[in-house]
Formats: sequence, structure tokens, C-alpha cells
Amino acid sequence: MPSSFSRRWHFRQLITASSFILLVACAENPTAADATPLQIANAPAAASPTTQPAIAPGTSDFDIQPTMSFSDWEAGFRVDAMKAGIRPDLFDQAFAGVLPDMSVVKADRSQPEFTRPVWEYLDGAVSAVRVNKGQALLAQYADVLQTIEQRYGVDRQSLVAIWGMESNFGRFQGSQYVIRSLATLAYEGRRRAFAQDQLLAALQILQHGDIQPGEMLGSWGGAMGQTQFIPTTYNTYAVDFDGDGRRDIWNTPADALASTARYLQSSGWQQGQPWGFEVQLVKGFDYALADASTRKTVAEWLQMGLKLPNGGALPANVAQLQAALLLPAGYKGPAFLVLDNFRATLKYNNSSSYALAVGLLSQRFSGGGYVLGSWPRDDLPLSRSERMELQTLLSSRQYDAGVPDGIIGANTRKAIRNAQQSYGWPADGYPTHELLDNLRKP
Ligand code: CA
Repeated sequence: MPSSFSRRWHFRQLITASSFILLVACAENPTAADATPLQIANAPAAASPTTQPAIAPGTSDFDIQPTMSFSDWEAGFRVDAMKAGIRPDLFDQAFAGVLPDMSVVKADRSQPEFTRPVWEYLDGAVSAVRVNKGQALLAQYADVLQTIEQRYGVDRQSLVAIWGMESNFGRFQGSQYVIRSLATLAYEGRRRAFAQDQLLAALQILQHGDIQPGEMLGSWGGAMGQTQFIPTTYNTYAVDFDGDGRRDIWNTPADALASTARYLQSSGWQQGQPWGFEVQLVKGFDYALADASTRKTVAEWLQMGLKLPNGGALPANVAQLQAALLLPAGYKGPAFLVLDNFRATLKYNNSSSYALAVGLLSQRFSGGGYVLGSWPRDDLPLSRSERMELQTLLSSRQYDAGVPDGIIGANTRKAIRNAQQSYGWPADGYPTHELLDNLRKP
């Protein structure tokens, strides 16, 4: 084991000293972690910072201090790891020289004040550079993609779209040592159980010989490789598709793409179905129906007056499929009917913006995926503090928006709808400055 010399760690000091690291880098193209979550559901494949629980109310970001030294924590975790079947030599090799990484704690606690509008996010997601690169990779990996399609029933365009969104086709996989990041999160303790589970899974991956410790790199949250799998997802779904004995989602595109396909298949992917398609709403439509929990067949939606834009044709064989109506920017923006494969993509990353980007990008490779409706580009999204204020004001008016955490989940949407209905406005559940201004009035 590494020396335990002077490993007590003072959070307050280190956070102050390293706060310059926090200046959030703005990637030119969005990645998975960049998407705004519009719904909260099951655990995603990747540890996206946007889907993590908020800090408990009343807890300052900076007043938590660990109750033990890192070396004491490591000694305790080592005992647990041995009980779980990790070899002592493997553990000590994996932890050699590992100390807490302050940038991981910083990233775990940072909650961006400003959110990019969904239309800007989508513009970046389906950029010409990304589309061209994806088309080239579709050609380059045509044979392996065909075999993966046959094995798992997930189309190649969707797989390559997710590859592009998760890591820009392997280019941005994260450069942090996964054991160090997860050990930091487990030691720091805000999400100890989650982090220890992931850490144990990461050690199992090393012990299995899939990757060497020095190559086990990922995001600060432990999302690894070209697919950005967290270790437990990796252990359940990663595939050695090229048959070299190692599930190498870092360096082997065939393994990464097949692992993605297997995960989507297990998340309810339906072979041959589209993710969804754009629709137009008629005047006077009941916008409260635009909710992930309201599912009807496509035929029922059409009977209620939804139209296809520009008189377009309905995709084949979708009339009897269940669909939900998605308004990513509220009633003033484009509308989409989304099917089961959209929901499967949300299991990968629980953000409607992300799933929409994946769907549109997968179509763009073949020249489609253009949104015909216009985005309300003058309506800027509420900032985090404005969203929290909105939640507080809603709750004070008897529209229960839950804990004011800045996350627009199901409770907040319902509260927004109730307030909108009381004003006689379209009840789309979408948070706007107009609504906030009205609620601010005494
Ligand atoms: Ca392999």
C-alpha cells in the first residue's frame, strides 16, 4: 500500500485553492454531459453530472469535511474489496500513488447557472463536422456494423450517433484515472454508496484483465471509453465483439459499438422503428397532453388533430405504436411524437435534448433529420437561480413544485401547468420568463 504519510485532506482549503479550475470549459460540440435533463427517470449508462441529485437543501457547497483521512478510508475499503473477491496485489497496484482529486469534487458539486437553449445544443450536436465524420465511420465500419445490427437489432446510424454524442467518436473519452476519480467520490462521501459500487466494479474490470490500470481513463464521474459506460454498466453490458478476450471500449470501436447496441437492446430498443418524428399541433390543442407519462397510439394522436409538417407522410408501420408528445421548447417551438427507441436512448442518458440529438443525428447521416418548425430563439432558458425562484414561488401559491433544486422534474412541470391553467395560458409545463414575472407579482 502507498504510504499514508500526510494524507489528511482539508476540503475547505483545497476548494478555495483550486477554484480557478472551475471555470467551465465550453466544448464546441455538445456531449452527453452537456444536455439539459428534461425528465428524471432511471439510472443512465453514463454518470452525467446533469442527472445527479442536487445537494441537500441547507447544505453549503463548501462546509463538508471528511470524517477520516484518505488512507484510513482506503484501508477500510480495501477490506471490503477483499471480501468481494478482489486480489490484494491487484488492489494495491490499482491504488498505487492514488490521492484524492480535488477537481472531481469540484465537478461533482458544480451546478451550472446558465443552460444552453435546446436549439443551440442541437445545432452543435448535428454540426456538419460531426455529420461528415459519422458518415465516414459508417463507411469504414460497414461490415462490423452490419454484424452488430444482425446480432442486437439496433440500426447502425443510431449506434454511430451515440458514439458521436458520447465521445465525439472516441476523441473525447476523458483523461482521468477512473480509480482515482471514484475513490475521491467514495471518500468524500456525498454519494458514497454509488461511488463504492462503481469503484468495486472498476476493480473487477481490472482484475478481469480487460484494461490495464494506467489505461483505465474516463470522465471525472467514472464514465469510461468510447461509450462512456460507468463501471457497473460495463460489467453488465460490455461485449468483446472482436474476440480478442478483452472488452475494450477504449480502443476497439467494434467492442464499443457492440456494447452500446447490447445496452440499447436491453433498454427496450425496437428493431426497425424510428425514434419519432416531427408533428404540428392545431390551434387550441390541449398542451397538457405533452408529457412523457401520456402515451397514446400514433393513430390516436393524429385523430386528436396532430398533423405532419408540410403535408409529409407518416413513417411506415407506426400508426399503432405508443407515442408521447414532446415539446422541447414549449408550445411556441417544434413538436415531436417520440416512440420506444427514444425511451431506450433516455436510458443511456436521461435527457430529452440528448435523445432528440441522437435521433436527429442518426437521420442526418442519410440527409434527413432537419427540424421544420421554428425555435423560439428569443426565449432564453431560465437560469438555475431563476428556476429555483420559480419553484419557490409556485409552491408559495399552492402549486407544489417540490424541493426548489432548479431541476424541472415531473412535480415542477405539473405545478407549472396548474399555474398556466389558472392564467388561462397554454399549459405546456415549460418554464418561461413570462411565467416567472407573473408569479413575482404580489
Ligand atoms: Ca475485444
